[in-house]
Amino acid sequence: MSACVDPVLGKILAGWRYDISGLAPEMRGAYEAHFAECERCRSRRTLHRTIDVSLIVLASVSAGVFLLAFGVIHHFAPRHTLILELVALGGFGLSALIWLIVAVATPAPMTVVDVARLGARHVHDRLPEEIRQRLPEELRMKLTGS
Ligand SMILES: [Zn+2]
Repeated sequence: MSACVDPVLGKILAGWRYDISGLAPEMRGAYEAHFAECERCRSRRTLHRTIDVSLIVLASVSAGVFLLAFGVIHHFAPRHTLILELVALGGFGLSALIWLIVAVATPAPMTVVDVARLGARHVHDRLPEEIRQRLPEELRMKLTGS
């Protein structure tokens, strides 16, 4: 992998786990320019966002499996039902907690919103000019960011 083109900026970005979604737009300029020219930081950012989103997905699946286990135990009522049910509920609670921590501590939700916004902007850019002009000003601002 190639080296960072500006180690000082790269170090700041690494400290933020390559997330600049929380910065005000006028503060982002230098960092966005860095992402544009630095392949290393760009691929790092992709890696980190992939990890965040995978964690959310894993926690969701895990919570679902524990809930399913609870349902199965409840339905078939084997011996020691109460203990097994408590274990299943505990697993569900833990998964839900992990999900919440990931959602709050990482920019995974923002990543999903950004992807949606990029998609919407892509559609917007392909619309004919006269339809684009009819879109409410506020919506156009959100899509194009200008
Ligand atoms: Zn860099």
